[in-house]
Amino acid sequence: MAESTPTPDENHRSDVARREQTDAPSVYGPEQSAAENKGGFLSDLLAPVAGFGVSFTNQFRKRPTEEFPEEKRPTQPRFHGRHQLNRHPDGLEKCVGCELCAWACPADAILVEGADNDDTPVEQGGTGRFSPGERYGRVYQINYLRCIFCGLCIEACPTRALTMTNFYELADHRREDLIFEKHQLLAPLSEGMVSPPHPMVEGMEERDYYQGKVAKATPEQEEFARNRSAAAPTHATSEAIGGADPADVRTKPRDEGGLTEGGTRR
Ligand code: SF4
Ligand code: SF4
Repeated sequence: MAESTPTPDENHRSDVARREQTDAPSVYGPEQSAAENKGGFLSDLLAPVAGFGVSFTNQFRKRPTEEFPEEKRPTQPRFHGRHQLNRHPDGLEKCVGCELCAWACPADAILVEGADNDDTPVEQGGTGRFSPGERYGRVYQINYLRCIFCGLCIEACPTRALTMTNFYELADHRREDLIFEKHQLLAPLSEGMVSPPHPMVEGMEERDYYQGKVAKATPEQEEFARNRSAAAPTHATSEAIGGADPADVRTKPRDEGGLTEGGTRR
């Protein structure tokens, strides 16, 4: 036999019954009222001024004043600060323009445009070699208005080209200045490095670079760089370096507080 549908009256009665069965003592019930009344007259009298006690005791506490920016607070070793694009020991860039960092970024703060390395001599129209592999990051930008310093990009990078430094002074007066270009993010040249574009170490393959077989730039690479700098850079080379326009104030060098490859989180 099919069950009959309960009427609204029956529904209401069963709701009331359920509530009566499950009603536990409320936090606002008589137990709490008793606890509230336990303080007594003196406690009630002092309650309004008790809060001032915190302010009063802090009047005599020594304040740890920081004289920023003259005195900079040291960060934790694995602090997530400004990014850095690292180099191989001969100066070639580690970035291969794969865009994995850009895909991993949850804030869409990274823009990468890869390009092919070109071993054709510059006189013959070649743009040069910037990394040991097939490709390099021709354009690389990080928008620090968007970046949340989560570090997902550096986890995604397959070549350890992108790491984060301990540098945290990133405030500026113009929004445009907080979009960092490749030339601002590239690690400075350390001893033994030569600024690209230049060829790879003779006899070495891309994998040799990652296996640590390259220790510094060879005399041949240094000579190549000397000859290149003797000739005026072509428009193509300037574009390849990162599209830096010397007239653009965004390309101004920043005081990185002695930022070096050594300050990089690996
Ligand atoms: S740290 Fe996070 S938010 Fe910033 S660029 Fe990398 S992935 Fe994007
Ligand atoms: S920084 Fe790393 S992940 Fe990003 S494009 Fe370069 S190689 Fe790829």
